[in-house]
Amino acid sequence: MKIICIGRNYIDHAKELKNPVPKEPVFFLKPETALLTRNRPFYYPPFSKEIHYEAELVFKITRNGKFIRKEFAASYYEEVGLGIDFTARDLQRRCKEKGLPWEIAKAFNDSAPVSEIFPVIKLKDKNNIRFRLEKNGETVQEGVSSDMIFNMEEIISYVSQFIMLRMGDLVFTGTPAGVGPVKIGDRLKGFIEDREMFDFEVR
Ligand code: MG
Repeated sequence: MKIICIGRNYIDHAKELKNPVPKEPVFFLKPETALLTRNRPFYYPPFSKEIHYEAELVFKITRNGKFIRKEFAASYYEEVGLGIDFTARDLQRRCKEKGLPWEIAKAFNDSAPVSEIFPVIKLKDKNNIRFRLEKNGETVQEGVSSDMIFNMEEIISYVSQFIMLRMGDLVFTGTPAGVGPVKIGDRLKGFIEDREMFDFEVR
């Protein structure tokens, strides 16, 4: 499986990092080794001094496909969860300055904690999903999926032109404003609507 991450998918976050609002989805990949599940702790990596959290809705791909048309894309995902796209912001800044790829800043071990996932149909409106991140008991990020610049159908259609989607792949759909640093000892708790999705520690 692979993890597909969309960047700059919320206008307010694109602005907070002083990035232009994209005309097409921006995406990058994380490998399977980035996945961190079951509330296991995240160990602060030695190569960065500025790890940021980015809370994102995560959808699971349920069918294989490429060149998927937007009007058929809704049948390629059924389940949703919440994840953190951990980012070594200091390394990412250096990569961006030099025009280099972002992998060392984004794809490192355990950089993609993901909650349990559940069927999207359990939610009132799959195009209007509210989510929230707490750091040490204080809400630091709040988002709603209707604010995404590109919705899941558009993401699936776009990405599948270049990379075949496979059953089990995960799609991180981008983060709203409010990203910030974590330090050892922090506790991150995530919610979709009123449902607690994850609760883990930075060690
Ligand atoms: Mg992100």
